[in-house]
Amino acid sequence: MIEIDNILLSDEIVKEQFVCDLAKCKGGCCEDGDAGAPLTGKETDILNEIFETLKPYLTREGLTEIEQKGRYFYDKSFGWVTPTINGGICAYGFRDEKGIIKCGIEQAYLDGKITWKKPISCHLYPIKIKTTKTYEIVNYEPRETLCSPACKLGRKLKVPVYVFLKEAIIRKYGEDFYGVLEQVATQYYKD
Ligand code: SF4
Repeated sequence: MIEIDNILLSDEIVKEQFVCDLAKCKGGCCEDGDAGAPLTGKETDILNEIFETLKPYLTREGLTEIEQKGRYFYDKSFGWVTPTINGGICAYGFRDEKGIIKCGIEQAYLDGKITWKKPISCHLYPIKIKTTKTYEIVNYEPRETLCSPACKLGRKLKVPVYVFLKEAIIRKYGEDFYGVLEQVATQYYKD
């Protein structure tokens, strides 16, 4: 375990290697699972603020689902989450011409329409965060089958998990935190 400012990170974040291989997994994490994307309370406010701008980036099915279930809803097990279409793809997702699932929110961000990239839980995955009274626990939890090409590609390219997720980790915890994590990793690779 690595401890930085009451945040506990599993060693795998430094030791394991990972690079999403979208050609193989087709962005499957956006449709696999028991719920949509987890959202913080603040992110639900952001979704309300940007929703009209997002509409052109959503599919008809996604919009219908959102009309029926809401832009987000509270799930007993997972907290605030995005709705999914028939328990599958996130209502904010769409498939590109190669059949890869993309995020409508991220596409609007890339087009310069909004300044919020996507929910931090999506940005950080395959890292997942659990919060206890004393600690925030940060674990590396790739999907066993879907993400296995990403583990292989990460090893081939020699990209550690924390490097692959640099932008998301800095977005969540800041530059200083990432700097300390980098020092810990440098030590690990030296030993
Ligand atoms: S996290 Fe896993 S399923 Fe999601 S895009 Fe990356 S490799 Fe694919």
